Amino acid sequence: MTASRKLDPAGRPLYRVAEIPDHLATVTMLRRLRRRPAEGQEPAATLFYHGNKHTDLYEIAASQELPALSPGRQAAWTAARTCARCQATRTNPLAHIDRGRRLCAGCVVTERTAAARPSWLRLRAAAVQWARDVLDHPDTVLIAAYGLTDWGAPYHVHAMTPDKEVLVDVVARRAYPSAEGAIGGIDRVLGGIAADRLVPVLTPLVGRRLIHTVRSERGHYGGHHTPLGRLSELTLGPYSPGLTDPSIRQHRKDDFHLRWTDWHNRTWYDHPHSSPTYGRFGLSSVPIDGSDAAALTTAMLAGLHRMAIDAHPDGPPACPWLPSIGLIPCRAAPDPRSGLCLHHTPAEETDGAPA
Ligand SMILES: [Zn+2]
Ligand SMILES: [Zn+2]
Repeated sequence: MTASRKLDPAGRPLYRVAEIPDHLATVTMLRRLRRRPAEGQEPAATLFYHGNKHTDLYEIAASQELPALSPGRQAAWTAARTCARCQATRTNPLAHIDRGRRLCAGCVVTERTAAARPSWLRLRAAAVQWARDVLDHPDTVLIAAYGLTDWGAPYHVHAMTPDKEVLVDVVARRAYPSAEGAIGGIDRVLGGIAADRLVPVLTPLVGRRLIHTVRSERGHYGGHHTPLGRLSELTLGPYSPGLTDPSIRQHRKDDFHLRWTDWHNRTWYDHPHSSPTYGRFGLSSVPIDGSDAAALTTAMLAGLHRMAIDAHPDGPPACPWLPSIGLIPCRAAPDPRSGLCLHHTPAEETDGAPA
């Protein structure tokens, strides 16, 4: 590597920013270390930066310390580089100032996470209550639509009660005439019945409370779709009322995927091989055994039972309140209405006033 290194016109090695060896530094880098080139010290190499600029690199060991700062300036120098929360002192001044406190980048994230966490804990507590309510409700039915191709249709639709009594298990294909011929050939190959003949198949759903989800071959969850909405599209195309019937209701609050995401929300994901997800990942993180709607309803039922006992990957909910210094949060059991322990819940929230 050294043998092939380019030289500047004076015969010194030429480095780019990412290549600067540990023992060399520019004048600016030396000043951050409270050092400067010694009297008569020659540069050891040249730094080539910004594509067209050059500056000298010096041996750090041969440089000399700057004169000591006065006590007042030393205190200011240290204060500008010390994080108010973790108390660590850095080489460079800390740029982030929050209400007069200088914070390092890590502590900025820590404080923002702690500030976001109470609302997430409230969503989690609400999802747990929802799951208990769903499992107790006598009319609960779990229904899933699984798109069997990349583009969705045909759909496998499976519905069962929490006791695993199967009410619907059908593959529905488009009702378009073209679905009978060459253009819709894939629908025919995959079988199923035309969507406009589905009504008798769906009657067991009338009057039930439907906990619903939609997924396609690609693995996407359609948070803004419902199983019956998908079947409706197969009947008459998009934007058509199709199978929509007031006697078969799918409420948005019973969208399983959204509730799961609320419950499963995490402020960080510390798997070593994964990039941070910043909390948003839902049912796609749950292994589903098989690729049809029956596998989805089975996963929904298992998920409901996990939610109902709050078997969360982060463990029991913990009060995220941070003291003014340090990184250890309170961790007491939080109140489900505030997401903070009663000791740290602001008074107006315990009085029942809006947050
Ligand atoms: Zn810090
Ligand atoms: Zn607390």
